Amino acid sequence: MPNFLCTTCGTQYAESDQPPATCAICQDERQYVKATGQQWTTLDKLRLTNRNSLKFKEPGRHAFFQVGEASVLLAFRAEATLKGDPLPPHGATGPGHFALGIAAEDLDGWRKLLQGHGVTIEKEVGWPRGGKSLYFRDPAGNSVELVTPGVWGLPSGW
Ligand SMILES: [Zn+2]
Repeated sequence: MPNFLCTTCGTQYAESDQPPATCAICQDERQYVKATGQQWTTLDKLRLTNRNSLKFKEPGRHAFFQVGEASVLLAFRAEATLKGDPLPPHGATGPGHFALGIAAEDLDGWRKLLQGHGVTIEKEVGWPRGGKSLYFRDPAGNSVELVTPGVWGLPSGW
């Protein structure tokens, strides 16, 4: 059975024969449903016409990652952005934190991959609602969390 994805917000729902009647995220007053109505897709359909690629807009300075249709993850190299050219200097000090969602069945593979590359796993947490988190540091010292579905009890499975 497929996991249907909302084409507007990208939320993935639990396996089912039919898509959900509505997307709980897009029904929220802060979101919207397209004028053409609620539409769904699946990962199998997306794989026919889409693939992931990474493109640097300014090599060596930053990378922008499209996340779904409405979000972008910006990753900057601190030394470059603190120089302030061409934009005003900006950055942060101290370790930041970000989380990346992964499938529950992929957690063991990620742990083995990271440990195989000498990355120290700082902590693993099993959350009360379900889901697990694994924490490690990226080369810049930021706390990276790999999190499996179930942590927040959302209709999307997260
Ligand atoms: Zn949606």
